[in-house]
Amino acid sequence: MIKKLLLTTILGTTGFLYAKVNAVVSILPQKTFVEAIGGDKVNVALMVKPGNSPHTYEPKPSQMKDINNADIYFSIGVEFEEAWLPKFASQNKKMIIGNIAKGIEKLPMAEHHHDEDEHKEEKEDHNHEADKHEEHDHDEHAEHELEHDALDPHIWTSTANVKIIAKNIYNYLVKIDSKNKTHYKNNYEKFLEHINQTDITIKKILIDTATGTKFMVFHPSWGYFARDYGLIQIAIEAGGKNPKPKQVAYLIDEAKEEKVKAVFTAPEFSDKVATQIAKEVGIPVIKVSPLNPKWSENLIQLANAIANK
Ligand code: ZN
Repeated sequence: MIKKLLLTTILGTTGFLYAKVNAVVSILPQKTFVEAIGGDKVNVALMVKPGNSPHTYEPKPSQMKDINNADIYFSIGVEFEEAWLPKFASQNKKMIIGNIAKGIEKLPMAEHHHDEDEHKEEKEDHNHEADKHEEHDHDEHAEHELEHDALDPHIWTSTANVKIIAKNIYNYLVKIDSKNKTHYKNNYEKFLEHINQTDITIKKILIDTATGTKFMVFHPSWGYFARDYGLIQIAIEAGGKNPKPKQVAYLIDEAKEEKVKAVFTAPEFSDKVATQIAKEVGIPVIKVSPLNPKWSENLIQLANAIANK
């Protein structure tokens, strides 16, 4: 008893017993996930501030303070991490780098199909060779996981993926702060229930939406959402570039043919081309960011817009 009291006093004075876990995350939805499971036991600092793109973000010098104080960096595999994670790791050698994308199978990034069409026209006589070359590329990507520039990093737009993300976050928090395991476990289970409810709600909304229904977006960030619900994402932008005028004309035709109901854009990108296409087709532009911290409401809003409800 006395021993225990003494220990409590010592640890209490050093602040250890009451210290929260300091975590850093790359993007806003991750903050939502970590806070859902960590509750009041975890402080979460955000790297990519709202309105910025995680593909090109450059942390501000002041953000290095968050890295210095961090117990863990939750990485999710967005592009800027490639350049910055090694710098963060050498800045704070005690910080754990927790990969919360672990166990998620990534999809290939949406290719610019119009470029492919042009490619085919040019190479019509050498079709066989072209096919061979493509197969070779795919093999290489499977072998070298580091070449993930061709893989879609927007994994959090899928409820199935968020379940895996949540499990990873839970495991890391228990590893760092095992004395609060019950707290994390309760929150984790509550969060899983919330993910399931989100999935059920989306399925109900899309019940009359035919499999293979196409929706048009500027930035191709909804590939996993599309996969989960049997939809097809048509991207205006590809490889981070605006389409050429010929491709814009093609997209307008495609939107009309496929009776696309709206063009989705995100505030992180210019909506000039999206607005032009929407105007030509006579459909609205709807802003929906994959980086919205209210990730559940956000997916439900997208489903509603696709279902035209
Ligand atoms: Zn993106």
